[in-house]
Parts: sequence; C-alpha cells; structure tokens
Amino acid sequence: MTQPPESIDDYYARVRAATDAEGRLPVAAEEMPGWDIFPFEVDSLRIKPLQPLAESEPPRAGEDASDCRCAAPAAPDDGTLVWHNDRWRLTLIADTGLPITVSLGPKQHMDLPTMPPDWAAEFGRLTVTISAAMEALPSVGRAQLAKYGDGSAHLHVWFFGRPARMLQLRGSPLLDWEENLPRVPLEVLQANARPIGEALVAAYGGEVGLPA
Ligand SMILES: [Zn+2]
Repeated sequence: MTQPPESIDDYYARVRAATDAEGRLPVAAEEMPGWDIFPFEVDSLRIKPLQPLAESEPPRAGEDASDCRCAAPAAPDDGTLVWHNDRWRLTLIADTGLPITVSLGPKQHMDLPTMPPDWAAEFGRLTVTISAAMEALPSVGRAQLAKYGDGSAHLHVWFFGRPARMLQLRGSPLLDWEENLPRVPLEVLQANARPIGEALVAAYGGEVGLPA
C-alpha cells in the first residue's frame, strides 16, 4: 500500500524530538552559518525555543475578495508604480537597501493556487521579462524571486535585485543583509526600475507609471 502524505503532527513530533531541555534545536553551524554568505557570527547564536503547533492557520489580510485591498479604488500615485496594464501591476518597494525590489501582482483577486491557466501563462512570461531586465541593470548581479503569501491573501511575488559583485550577499540570506544596508534614495530606485517598466511595455504593452 502506498504511504499517504505525512500529517503535520507527525512532522512536528520529529522536530520536537530533536530539541533540547529548553525546547531549542541545535544550530546547524556547519550548514548556512558556516558559509561566508551568512551575515552573523555564530559564537553567540542560538535558536529560539520551538513553539507549539497553532490550532489552525490564521486568516490573512484580504482572504475574501470583498475586503481585499484590490476591491478599493487604486491608491494615489506615490511614484512607485513601475508598470501596469489592464490585468497586472508591478510596484516598486521604496524602503529597501537593495538596488531594486519590485512586487508583481494581478489587479483581479487571486492567489497563486487559484490563478486561472491563461493568467498563469502571462505570469510566467512577465516573470521572465522582469528577471531579464533586472539582471541587465549595472548594479544587479542576480534577480531573486519569492512568493510567501503569509500576510496577504492577494498574490504578490517579490523580485529582489542582489547587488552585483557583492558575493557575500548571494543566496537566501540576502534579506537578512538587506535590513542592515543603508536605504537607497527613491530617485535612484526609480531610475533602476524604469528599464524594467520599459521592457514590459515593449513586450506586452501597458504603460510605465514612474514619474518622468
Ligand atoms: Zn485581492
């Protein structure tokens, strides 16, 4: 008989069994903390005690389309609209220490697991164009992508520009570094975002929303 997928209780029990008397997991010092890309020194590092399983997953902001932010009129322009067409919006994140961070989302209410196939096809093509334009920027070495969806139900996919030639910032610790980097001025972020918006217009129409 085929083994069914594991329950979260069994998964959690395995993690719990690996903790010490204080409920702490040992730091896997030879893994990520052993890499030069890990931003912190390991000597004083310890993991917080494991919390018990929550009763259930908490509802996210905008779980229902009627109270999602996409149901409200568009926010006033604050200089962060990189590009949009009738279906999609690419937004610049103004508070960042990276050369560029943008968020792609549909104007219509959906999450990734509920995305219709024709939207999914567009989503894939937009992701390629955004990634290519971002990696063509002189200050970006690599475009990193993330979809979390733990806070807001409305789909928003992140694109982070990892600074070029700063090899210490590679990989998943990028965002741990980011909070400690000085903020990049908005006009610099807008200048970095413009070629991405222009690449999207060239490929799919729509318009760049950044101030001229
Ligand atoms: Zn929505």
